[in-house]
Amino acid sequence: MTQPDLTIYLAAPRGFCAGVDRAIKIVEMAIEKWGAPVYVRHEIVHNKFVVDSLRDKGAVFVEELDECPDDRPVIFSAHGVPKSVPAAATKREMVFVDATCPLVSKVHIEAERHYDNGLQMIMIGHAGHPETLGTMGQLPEGEVLLVETVADVAKVDVRDPSKLAFVTQTTLSVDDTIDIVAALRERFPAIVGPHKEDICYATTNRQEAVKAVAPDCDALLVVGAPNSSNSKRLVEVAAKNGCNYAQLVQRATEIDWRALDGIRTLGITAGASAPEVLVNEVIDAFRDRYNVTVQLIETAQENIEFKVPRVLRIPA
Ligand code: SF4
Repeated sequence: MTQPDLTIYLAAPRGFCAGVDRAIKIVEMAIEKWGAPVYVRHEIVHNKFVVDSLRDKGAVFVEELDECPDDRPVIFSAHGVPKSVPAAATKREMVFVDATCPLVSKVHIEAERHYDNGLQMIMIGHAGHPETLGTMGQLPEGEVLLVETVADVAKVDVRDPSKLAFVTQTTLSVDDTIDIVAALRERFPAIVGPHKEDICYATTNRQEAVKAVAPDCDALLVVGAPNSSNSKRLVEVAAKNGCNYAQLVQRATEIDWRALDGIRTLGITAGASAPEVLVNEVIDAFRDRYNVTVQLIETAQENIEFKVPRVLRIPA
């Protein structure tokens, strides 16, 4: 039986960003330097495949510092941690390495600078996400107000509307955030913040690539994890930009073949924490069922690389 034709539009940029790449290398270097086990507080990046492969090499993933013994090194994930975490590790005289993405650290510094200038902070982010918890945790409890939606902006109760600043999570939807920032600036004209928002280059580029691909696709699959903020945003961006069926899949085994019945065009992308090997696995699964032609749709080129410390030092 001849297989049906399928054109796959492969979005680029997609997959690993510089912050994820750096965080994974830090765990690998730590295991090499100190031997197993090396503890990692929270999934180093939100991807089961990556976490499982590091676990095989000797990483132990925990949610809280309390779960780590004093005498083994611990790594803090790319999402960043509240200040209380390195403080507790220092108090316990633990060896720790901070794998926070430099673009998240930049937001932490911004928040602290505004606070030092006497401004109350508003964070645009998702409640409970580790990056939001980490950024809010740079300042004393209660100093950062969280808004998630335009509706939240109307309700937020500030100390002094003339002394406000905002920061954002790095992995938000660019379009949704534009609306929230506009609402903040309208309600609080004196609010200080970044020129647009703090959404990182990788999040922005992956969303732009999906916008270019989505209108031409009968369906679009985002390779990524259900707890990956930037991956979930890619699904939403595809749906908002004319693709009738957009789904997150962690691996080829999660593809809902029945829902894809009859498609002729398929978009594929991957969140910033999803390795390319999983994208290839998904494409190969389609090759088993379709006569596939792959077209690369590239909307930007990325050559950003973050330095990994050559020697992992024990913090003073
Ligand atoms: S998604 Fe952006 S902020 Fe997050 S790790 Fe990657 S580069 Fe850094």
